Amino acid sequence: MTDRRHLPTTPAPVAQRAAAIEAALQAHGLPAADAIEQGLHHAEDVWLPARGARVVAKAWADAGFRARLLADGKSAVAELGIELPKHHRHLVVLENTASLHNVICCTLCSCTAFTVIGLPPDWYKELEYRARIVRESRSVLREMGLDLPADMELRVWDTTADTRYMVLPLRPPHTDGWSEAQLAEIVTKDAMIGVARL
Ligand code: FE
Repeated sequence: MTDRRHLPTTPAPVAQRAAAIEAALQAHGLPAADAIEQGLHHAEDVWLPARGARVVAKAWADAGFRARLLADGKSAVAELGIELPKHHRHLVVLENTASLHNVICCTLCSCTAFTVIGLPPDWYKELEYRARIVRESRSVLREMGLDLPADMELRVWDTTADTRYMVLPLRPPHTDGWSEAQLAEIVTKDAMIGVARL
């Protein structure tokens, strides 16, 4: 049995734990600084919801692309130069309509198609959202500002390690004639998770 007497009773702050892990890696000849730098760069400059917004705008403007996106999301976003990590084997795109709304979650932890829609918001990772969006979906959406009509069908999708989802929002009616760039401006991360409609 491990002797735990030397361990503190409360966990150290996250920053202190991260620094300890980095020091331990360094001590084993595995410098983490480059990987951390690269991770930060991706999180702050590359994995932005603007990428998903481009995908949505193109799907709205180009029926052929929308069909390919709904058939095989991963290869369709690759047309726009967006790669998914190898372990994201499938990108399933869920199309909202006037009578159907989709919302995604990860009941286990925090999985998203983060290279497409951006990293998950803090609330997405909270136990409260993960548990309640499945059991009390309409109430949770209402609390988040989305009051769905009673006759609108609602589907909740639980992400797995290898199957990632994004919601394709319904194109707002007032956007006729807009360019793809203009359309992309109005697409939000919340709408691609499904806790908002546009
Ligand atoms: Fe997860």
